[in-house]
Amino acid sequence: MRLIKSPSLINKELKKRRIKGQGIGFVPTMGALHEGHLSLIRQARRDNDIVVVSIFVNPKQFGPKEDLKKYPRPLSKDLKLCRKEGVDFVFFPKNEDIYPGGFSTYVNVEGLDKFLCAKSRPGHFRGVTTIVAKLLNIIAPDVLYLGQKDIQQAVILQRMVKDLNIPVKVKVMPIVRSKDGLALSSRNAYLNHKERRDALVLSQALKLAVFFINNGASDAKRIILRMRQLIEKRQSVRIDYVEIVDPVTLKPLKKVAGSFLIVLAVWVGKTRLIDNFLRK
Ligand code: AMP
Repeated sequence: MRLIKSPSLINKELKKRRIKGQGIGFVPTMGALHEGHLSLIRQARRDNDIVVVSIFVNPKQFGPKEDLKKYPRPLSKDLKLCRKEGVDFVFFPKNEDIYPGGFSTYVNVEGLDKFLCAKSRPGHFRGVTTIVAKLLNIIAPDVLYLGQKDIQQAVILQRMVKDLNIPVKVKVMPIVRSKDGLALSSRNAYLNHKERRDALVLSQALKLAVFFINNGASDAKRIILRMRQLIEKRQSVRIDYVEIVDPVTLKPLKKVAGSFLIVLAVWVGKTRLIDNFLRK
């Protein structure tokens, strides 16, 4: 496994591989790797000759009041995990090589970046689309691996790839959860014992909604109300949003039928957690 910091060097190394006819799978991450990330890496390993993982805590996707400084950065542990999973290249760029002085070009996916998480995280998706567009230019992979955990991000990035004719296939992998249902996230590390218990309410609310829907409920407003009631029973928890939306347009649904996406974002103490359930 090679650790490369320079964008031009990794681009050159991967070009050599491409000339040999080797296929490249790419998993972009912010590090603090857990089983969720590893499921993407393992799929990339199964599908491709070469697996590239990037580790970059992208400042442009953090708001001024968000957790950029305290975001976990356990690099040596991450590298160990990557090595164990048979990753070929870890791209670990420096901030100044990604955003050199004078940087002023951004990618915006209009419309989809107005809903859900965008409301409480203005500028977040602009940061995500810009860094992923840059990484796709640097790595030029055949397949990009994303997690359903960040479903809005995946929807927006799929739109970007299509709209900008970026020659990459996108694979969205299922959410990996701990045994008790909590979706794995690097931010779970911020939770204390009680908050960790309260955080279970996200997956419980999704389960409740799916139970209602499977038993014939279709009025989105009523389903959302029942979810909110369940969540609000927990003291340390504050709802950002709970919505049932169209999985492609992310617009709210009135009637739940056919394909749907239930999404929620909830503050547990000072930690904002997201989760979702997708029926295709
Ligand atoms: P992050 O490091 O949080 O930027 O995440 C990197 C990639 O891992 C993104 O595509 C995430 O959606 C994905 N990911 C994060 N958590 C999970 C999870 N619990 N299950 C599946 N994929 C995940």
